[in-house]
Amino acid sequence: MKSFLCAANWKMNKTPQEAENFFNEFQSEVKSEEESHFLFFVPTVSLSTTSLMLKNKKIGYGAQNIHFEKSGAFTGETSAEMVTSLGATHVLVGHSERRQLFFESNEDTNKKMKAAQASGLCPILCVGETLEQREAEETESVIRAQLLEGLTTCEPGFMVAYEPVWAIGTGKVASPEQANEAHVVLRRALIELYGDRVALDTHILYGGSVKPENAKRLGEQSEVDGFLIGGASLKVESLLSTFREAQS
Ligand code: PEP
Repeated sequence: MKSFLCAANWKMNKTPQEAENFFNEFQSEVKSEEESHFLFFVPTVSLSTTSLMLKNKKIGYGAQNIHFEKSGAFTGETSAEMVTSLGATHVLVGHSERRQLFFESNEDTNKKMKAAQASGLCPILCVGETLEQREAEETESVIRAQLLEGLTTCEPGFMVAYEPVWAIGTGKVASPEQANEAHVVLRRALIELYGDRVALDTHILYGGSVKPENAKRLGEQSEVDGFLIGGASLKVESLLSTFREAQS
């Protein structure tokens, strides 16, 4: 049985000093048996501090993005190897903000997935439809294409996050049924690609305005294996309560 995961996406928030303060508080509040349920996606500039703060802990962490090339003239970018050299275990790929604001295509996400896996990182491929696509009843085709194209020639050893774009940072959460329906579409696509065993072992996280108040019903859905949490992950109390509500 997969363990329920809460992955915190801090986006462009917190300086390294603020990250240190957060982890000091987090570690005084989290129970040791809860630690392995958390993953932190911190700004790249805070990876070093994070690696020191989480040393010898069961808490995973990683970057919010990587470049798919190993090295070279890519000013401002970070390679998978640079991220792993700081002890990171995971990386987000294709977050909707990367797709929308930085024009990442499914082809780019596929290159990043492969670069992450080649460096030993476990990538989380983020997929999700816009409001217009949902209203045009294109949700299934959009998220299937994002998944299939993003995973082309990838080995097992990744996670998926379903994040409807209209629910990210908007306070509008998908209903538990909407979230589960989308997860079923993704699970079926994983079965087609990798067979039952891998598909069932793969975490599919839900993201989009998850907070303590809605965590229980979303977390109860059969295909929801955890959450990717933005706003509510910035405070220790709301992150821990979100996890604990989902477990209650
Ligand atoms: C996210 O950034 O992945 C996210 C889900 O954000 P929020 O929880 O703030 O909607």
